[in-house]
Amino acid sequence: MTTTLIPLEAMPISALKGVGAKLAATLARLQIASVQDLLFHLPARYQDRTRVMPLKALRPGTDAVIEGEVCAADVVLGRRRSLVVRLRDNSGTVSLRFFHFTAAQKARFIPGSSLRCYGEARRGATGIEFFHPEIETPDETASVTAKVLTPIYPLTEGLSQNRLRGLMLQALALLDGMPEEAADEPGLGEYLPESLLPGALRLPLAQALKYLHQPPVSADMEQLAQGRHPAQQRLALEELLAHHLSLLQLRHSSRAVAAPVLQEKPSLEQAFAARLAFSLTAAQQRVCAEIAADLRQPRPMMRLLQGDVGAGKTLVAARAALVAIGSGYQVAVMAPTEILAEQHRINFCDWLQPLEIGVACVTGNLKGSARREQLERIAAGQAQLIVGTHALFQEGVVFQGLALVIIDEQHRFGVRQRLQLRDKGADEDRHCYHQPHQLIMTATPIPRTLAMSAFADLDCSVLDELPPGRQPISTVVIDSERRAEVIERVQKAVAEGRQAYWVCTLIEESETLQAQAAETTATELTAALVDLRVALVHGRMKAEEKALVMQAFKLGEIDLLVATIVIEVGVDVPNASLMIIENPERLGLAQLHQLRGRVGRGTKASYCVLLYSSPLSASGRARLQALRHHNDGFAIAEEDLRLRGPGEILGTRQTGEIQHRIADLQRDAPLLPKVQKIAASAQLTAAAREAIVRRWLQNNARFANA
Ligand code: ADP
Ligand code: MG
Repeated sequence: MTTTLIPLEAMPISALKGVGAKLAATLARLQIASVQDLLFHLPARYQDRTRVMPLKALRPGTDAVIEGEVCAADVVLGRRRSLVVRLRDNSGTVSLRFFHFTAAQKARFIPGSSLRCYGEARRGATGIEFFHPEIETPDETASVTAKVLTPIYPLTEGLSQNRLRGLMLQALALLDGMPEEAADEPGLGEYLPESLLPGALRLPLAQALKYLHQPPVSADMEQLAQGRHPAQQRLALEELLAHHLSLLQLRHSSRAVAAPVLQEKPSLEQAFAARLAFSLTAAQQRVCAEIAADLRQPRPMMRLLQGDVGAGKTLVAARAALVAIGSGYQVAVMAPTEILAEQHRINFCDWLQPLEIGVACVTGNLKGSARREQLERIAAGQAQLIVGTHALFQEGVVFQGLALVIIDEQHRFGVRQRLQLRDKGADEDRHCYHQPHQLIMTATPIPRTLAMSAFADLDCSVLDELPPGRQPISTVVIDSERRAEVIERVQKAVAEGRQAYWVCTLIEESETLQAQAAETTATELTAALVDLRVALVHGRMKAEEKALVMQAFKLGEIDLLVATIVIEVGVDVPNASLMIIENPERLGLAQLHQLRGRVGRGTKASYCVLLYSSPLSASGRARLQALRHHNDGFAIAEEDLRLRGPGEILGTRQTGEIQHRIADLQRDAPLLPKVQKIAASAQLTAAAREAIVRRWLQNNARFANA
């Protein structure tokens, strides 16, 4: 009889003994559907249960297997009633402590009997103690001690470590049972040609997996804990490659559709430049040229524009818009907040209306006839540049030849949103189907390694130069006990003809609470600074109210603007040269840098006062120090990556995009150039590419509709 081998990728998890529909459903929650998926479910950490530790050698904070003779078992009435079992070996004694126990459990601890247990040694009331250790008597099967390091897997409700370990043993046995020569068909496909792997990582996949599920006693626990073992690195490399390949696929498919060919119109460009009070920086010119070259192509531009806060991205956006409008199309500019949308509307009106270009604005707050009027102007093609918030793509806005979508100040903008936008912007009412070009401008620079891996589907331009004459911002960190001094400083700055921001931060998600806090502060500051014109802006105000206040501030009719972090992005008032941020320790580094970027836009020396409340946490202190030391957004981005990790920075947590299983973008950054090389190699076949993406990302809906 011949048996045909089923590849582990195609073998459903229910093929394992003991896996019924219920367990299969539980495993599905861990993205495990096939035996291959199970094998790629890697331990989060390991325990060393291979040696029994002498009691005397125990150190608090470490996990250990211990063995000894029970001397006593007593119920102790302290702040909390507990059962304390004294255990002795020939080196010393320790206590086991149980807060929850039954009479039967207590009766198990017979003085004079031996037992073995596993747990974490802690410093307790009686010296070294173990709270609720795992227990086994020597005559039971040796579940506490083991011959290999014990893997601890990520679990889900309804699944125990032991159950999962049992399944893994079955899967590993299947892997063992696969004949060598069948390695690239049944079993686990080895899709990466060995010659493409860096020397140290040339080990078969099956071997790497076996090692990670059952590391030998001799394994370097520290190295494993850090994820730096070659077996881990081998898998991390493949995982990074899978992500990279999937983005390349996306890149390929996005560019496989048609987009309108847009040509610059010199007369329009000249008219625009003639009205501008300054000339473009060299970086702006370079980036504008990169964009113009993309727009001339019959396929959609997908470009990411990075530039530090204040680098002048809006102007680059305007130039790109001119190319599309000059070619007879519409442009949409999407901003993350209403304040920013309003500010863009004002800027674009200033720049474009004199050139007889119509500007419209659509936000969620726009209602009734005003809204109808805007929508009509868009549908009739009377407005060629349309500014808005998310509402732009949500509520029945009909475009008339949309050729370019510009997304401003969004770094929390995942692949999924990029795709959605692409589809929303698709133009079906002209006879040929096309998609608009996309320009994405980031709020904060993104560390190079992150950009390389998270935005591989995009082309990238960098504005690495600030407009001339900018003064660096001096940042000081001051304890809120010295608040009175800071208020005096505001008084002085205004006396010198400057304007200031006072930013109130609050951890509460509630806009109402934030608004209340800002109101209280505004009242207090108005009382303390009687000669000053103080105004307030917060998220609960109506859009028109906000716009009026911002406009008055811009015109210099307000000296001190008290605000919640609604002003975080994009607000541009060059005469404002002092900013006080209250409780800055509550905010992330990138957010603080964004806020601070609201000053330092003019030619006057600017100051940012970080008014913190003590005591500061270690990470709070680190963030404020980083801000004090660096003015450059790229340096701050690197620091932020170090302090918070990639998930927070890319906002993948918010956008719900996948996290890596084994790779860590920061730790494994050195692998990224190799990943790019492998992806570019002709030795990697199309089938192998697909298989790798499927193995690592198949359960993820990430690119389902790409
Ligand atoms: P960001 O990149 O943060 O969006 P903005 O586009 O808001 O920056 O520009 C910041 C300020 O710099 C604005 O006041 C803008 O008018 C000004 N600006 C932009 N480009 C130049 C330039 N080439 N020379 C002088 N000022 C400029
Ligand atoms: Mg901006």
